[in-house]
Amino acid sequence: MKKQLLSVIVSCYNEQDAIPYFYDEIIKIAKQMDYLNFEFLFVNDGSKDNTLEVIKNLHQKDKRVRYVSFSRNFGKEAAMYAGLEHAKGDYITLMDADLQDPPELLIEMYDAIQKEGYDSVGTRRVTRKGEPPIRSFFARCFYKLINRMSKVEMVDGARDYRLMTRQVVDAILSLKEYNRYSKGLFSFVGFETKWIEYENVKRVAGETKWSFWKLFIYALDGITAFSTVPLMLSGVIGLLFCIVSFIAIIIIIVKTLIFGDPTGGWPSMVCIVFFVGGIQLFCTGIMGQYLSKTYLETKNRPIYIVKETEDK
Ligand code: UDP
Ligand code: MG
Repeated sequence: MKKQLLSVIVSCYNEQDAIPYFYDEIIKIAKQMDYLNFEFLFVNDGSKDNTLEVIKNLHQKDKRVRYVSFSRNFGKEAAMYAGLEHAKGDYITLMDADLQDPPELLIEMYDAIQKEGYDSVGTRRVTRKGEPPIRSFFARCFYKLINRMSKVEMVDGARDYRLMTRQVVDAILSLKEYNRYSKGLFSFVGFETKWIEYENVKRVAGETKWSFWKLFIYALDGITAFSTVPLMLSGVIGLLFCIVSFIAIIIIIVKTLIFGDPTGGWPSMVCIVFFVGGIQLFCTGIMGQYLSKTYLETKNRPIYIVKETEDK
């Protein structure tokens, strides 16, 4: 029987230092898993360092190394999507270049699909060691919040590192949305998923591309992509304020009729005006978020633009 192909997709943004380590590790695993053919598909997400040269050199040495290089930085979501589109494998895995996703887990993941009949295997970090505590705290809050607000389940600590069958990948590729939030998309397509847990690993070289602010925006993207609860919430707040103000009006009318009309209460009035004004802007803001996503979605722009690949 012909050996099946496993595609390893690696998204890289300024990873010139990490890629050689990564390649050394992954070919060891490829040797161990000799019952499969491998392709290593590097997606160069508009790196500003020598990442592309490093990848090209690997391609010269080893024809299993393929690459797709973007015209600029499109973000990790776009890189993963491009990888999935270009991969030819029967099984496909997504990995980071920094070895934070232990390649040796692939063996266990493949067995789960082959022997236990799962369609995809995800990984999650059980510890967040080596991460600033404040970041872990906000991450926990985010997962609690989004799981309350969305029907699609997001697993706390889930990484993008996963192994999938061709069928699952085709399902993911059929979701053409521009605002991609992979953690949600993977869970949206369904199928039987097994979760493997592991301890957080420090990156081998280079540094993380995620600032706190970037993560915060990413979290907001996740919420707007998979929940419309905030929209409903602004409606509920509006209704609540109507009821409160209606009661207040009745109280004031009755009070004036009974006790006359003493002027005063100016400071409290200003507070109320500011408060209500604030709430209104907040709700308009929520609406704006969804509107802006819809706006970008209707433009139908490509998710990424390729500058070069290994065969041209
Ligand atoms: N990455 C990417 N495009 C970006 C940012 C990151 O392709 O715009 C890649 C990066 O090269 C790495 C992976 O995504 O392989 C994860 O990035 P990083 O290690 O910075 O994130 P962390 O592991 O800290 O969450
Ligand atoms: Mg990393």
